[in-house]
Amino acid sequence: MAHLVLAGGGHAHLTTLLNIPAFREKGHRVTLVSPTDYHYYSGMGPGMLAGLYRPEDLRFHIRKMATDRGADFIQAEALRVEADKRLLILDSGKAIKYDVLSFNIGSKVSYGPIGEGDPAIFPVKPIQNLIRLRQKALDLIRTRDLPGFVVVGGGPAGLEIAGALHQLSKEAQKPVKITLLAAGRLMERFPEKVRQKALKSFEQRGIRVEEGAALTAVKNGFAITGKGQEIEASCTVLAWGVKAQELFARSNLPTGPDGNLLVNKYLACKNHPEIFGGGDCIYFADRPLDKVGVYPVRQNQVLFENLLAAVEGQKPKPFDPGGPYLLIFNLGNKKAILVKNGKVFSGKWAFWLKSFIDRRFMKRFQVSGEISSAKT
Ligand SMILES: Cc1cc2nc3c(=O)[nH]c(=O)nc-3n(C[C@H](O)[C@H](O)[C@H](O)COP(=O)(O)OP(=O)(O)OC[C@H]3O[C@@H](n4cnc5c(N)ncnc54)[C@H](O)[C@@H]3O)c2cc1C
Repeated sequence: MAHLVLAGGGHAHLTTLLNIPAFREKGHRVTLVSPTDYHYYSGMGPGMLAGLYRPEDLRFHIRKMATDRGADFIQAEALRVEADKRLLILDSGKAIKYDVLSFNIGSKVSYGPIGEGDPAIFPVKPIQNLIRLRQKALDLIRTRDLPGFVVVGGGPAGLEIAGALHQLSKEAQKPVKITLLAAGRLMERFPEKVRQKALKSFEQRGIRVEEGAALTAVKNGFAITGKGQEIEASCTVLAWGVKAQELFARSNLPTGPDGNLLVNKYLACKNHPEIFGGGDCIYFADRPLDKVGVYPVRQNQVLFENLLAAVEGQKPKPFDPGGPYLLIFNLGNKKAILVKNGKVFSGKWAFWLKSFIDRRFMKRFQVSGEISSAKT
């Protein structure tokens, strides 16, 4: 009998969680370690902030998924690994002995030079922060005239959050000031047409965009940029990209240049073939992958099959990351910008398509007791 430990119940572990009986039937033990009972689907996070979905529409009850199928659930954070002893150490101090270990702990948004502790500053990850942000935004809108929101980050997350905050204020029928700060140009990794469409939509809605304006500090309710601008910030949202979790470096496991767990084509760690990983927390040696939800979703089946093979002492299968993927950016106002193979489109239908794909994904993995009923 082998013990499979799943560290994190993110997007790449969902098929494994649904298939726990396949491990149990062969006499193996499975344990899921997660800091929370629920895992939130980021793709619908900004839509929830905008009021288009309820929090329960975008979460998976991973504790229930695991325990209903015969796995153990430990509410904790994985802190480090002692790979030579096959021990996973938790933040509680507890050590779990594993035979096979799989990581799906995602990435994090750091506070950078801003420093933690200010309750008016919200990193966009974990996605649950967006539930608190919505409450904070509604409180500000209710109690202040024209409160200022600063969204830091000119990529997809910043774009979607700024658009969602505008929609939230529109629904509340109270105006707000929203400024998006981009260190470079807005959506600079994408075709210029994306930037033009986003700028046009934001201009029409009165959302200010400051390009070449990196945030350097937040002081006394003002966001300060490298250009010396001081912008009123009753609330600041950090959407300036993701960083690797420190666990891998702390554990002396091989990492890629981004600090994530270095894995081979089998999604397994080079020096420790009994350690696997998926999603944002891996560096896929064959071909560096973008930090988008598409890849953990594509990894689901192979990761499940390889974990089952590993506990059974059988050969793993290679993961094929596949070709180009569809990107749809939610503008918050029930419209979206769609990019595929360099072609750019926008409109209500693009949001409808995103919502359809997102809700279909939720239905695939939500267990009974969780209902998906988007208000779109
Ligand atoms: C606002 C926003 C919108 C996005 N929208 C999209 C989109 O529309 N489409 C898209 O493709 N990508 C999108 N992304 C990117 C996407 O969020 C990530 O690529 C995706 O979440 C990665 O999935 P994951 O399962 O690897 O990590 P995560 O979704 O971060 O999940 C990690 C899980 O691990 C748990 N965990 C964390 N630390 C520990 C620990 N130490 N021990 C145990 N468990 C732990 C967490 O609680 C969480 O449940 C968006 C990102 C953001 C910030």
